[in-house]
Amino acid sequence: MTDRVRKSGQVVLVLAFMLLGLLFLALVCVDAFLSSHRKNRLQNAGDAAALAAARWQGITLNALGALNLAKVDALCKVGDPTMNPAAWHEATNVCERITALQERIAFAGPLMGFYSAQRAAMMNDVTEPDADMAALVAESVFRAPMLIGTELWPEKAQDYAEMVRGAARDGVFAGADNAQFFNFAISSNHPLFNRAFYEAVAGEDWCWFYLHGGMANLLANFSGWSDIPFAGAGSPQNPEFFGTGIRFVRGALADINLDWTETQVRSAVLELAERSSCPNVNDFTLQQCGVVKNRNLSWVTYGSSWHAWGRMHRSDAARLPLISDVKDKYNVEGAFAATRVRQVLEPFTPGVSRRANVWTAAAKPFGAIDERTVTWNGEFPLVAPAFTDVRLVMLGAFDEGSMGMADRAWVNHTRDHIQPPSDVAHAAGCRYCAILKKWEDRDFRKKGADWLAKNGEEQCRRPTGGGGPPGGGTRHAH
Ligand SMILES: [Zn+2]
Repeated sequence: MTDRVRKSGQVVLVLAFMLLGLLFLALVCVDAFLSSHRKNRLQNAGDAAALAAARWQGITLNALGALNLAKVDALCKVGDPTMNPAAWHEATNVCERITALQERIAFAGPLMGFYSAQRAAMMNDVTEPDADMAALVAESVFRAPMLIGTELWPEKAQDYAEMVRGAARDGVFAGADNAQFFNFAISSNHPLFNRAFYEAVAGEDWCWFYLHGGMANLLANFSGWSDIPFAGAGSPQNPEFFGTGIRFVRGALADINLDWTETQVRSAVLELAERSSCPNVNDFTLQQCGVVKNRNLSWVTYGSSWHAWGRMHRSDAARLPLISDVKDKYNVEGAFAATRVRQVLEPFTPGVSRRANVWTAAAKPFGAIDERTVTWNGEFPLVAPAFTDVRLVMLGAFDEGSMGMADRAWVNHTRDHIQPPSDVAHAAGCRYCAILKKWEDRDFRKKGADWLAKNGEEQCRRPTGGGGPPGGGTRHAH
């Protein structure tokens, strides 16, 4: 009898344990399901935010391009300036007013993109504001008075502060991962401003050094920091968040880039004018009014980031694992928007800690005329109203050096701890400063250089040239 009781007690106990186990398993399953569900939602939110910002970049470029053509049109209406000086004077005045408008649009458009990226993240259930990014935005507003105005936009500093404040009005939920902060030398090629360099040191990824130009040399011969560039002050022509990378150039278009000639510029302008119905622009008027070479006129052109893809080309050492080159009409970098969203998931399973999921996405506007890209090869150096597509693009296609700008610790490090021309403050508690300490250890670098000398050629090199897809995996994630 007692035996039976004991036995049934044991059975109950076993059953109870099994039930508990099952319950635990069920909770883990619920967590796994919710986690993957939430991750999908978060990815949607990040993608939507990037697309929203890139769409505004396209709108901005189209507006700037249309205004470029409006100027050509106004001048061509007059024809030969010497025949009618009064009308020419009037036309150049109109052009100046249009330029003033362009200067503002170059800032306002991308910041509308910032606003709309925040809305997109919110509407896709990103509920927690991004404290890091919000603080960075607040700093931008704080620093805005340092901006120097232009002749056509003297109140640029106040206006910019107002625009940024407005863009963050409904909260900051999506980080601008490719922000280009003004007081920041981030665009330089110096390794101290390249986050990938720090990650390579932290992870002892020696192949990174092998694959990045002179970096293997730096590993072998480093003797101290030098040539750290100063952040340029001046008067930036694009905002910090989601700028389109355009450049205002004064006259003499044919001088901008020696790869193309005045004739090429003229034929590009003519083609665009025809498509945009500018009735006054024809070869004769264009020659007569001297639009292309007039040094007193300002034009919106594509800046230095508007070049062919590096990472998307098969000849690039650290390239993406592509089996063919990018189609001509997509073969241009330039304006893009990278957004980062974060969401913390509250797990049901006891003992499992909260963990933030992060998703970063990139998108960019594309434009082409008859399959030819509007911006590359110097065929269409003048910004044109030709942007028709917005696409998501792999993050790996962009230079790591321009990313990670939604991370406040990184921004603070590059802004405050790197001290041009040759100093690095070893700030306590800064992860990046700690990594630099590791780098400055001679034995550490020697270990890497020795490994590369022995294994670099064999283990780091990728197959090149045509044929089948490159093997050996890739350094790039999504
Ligand atoms: Zn630091």
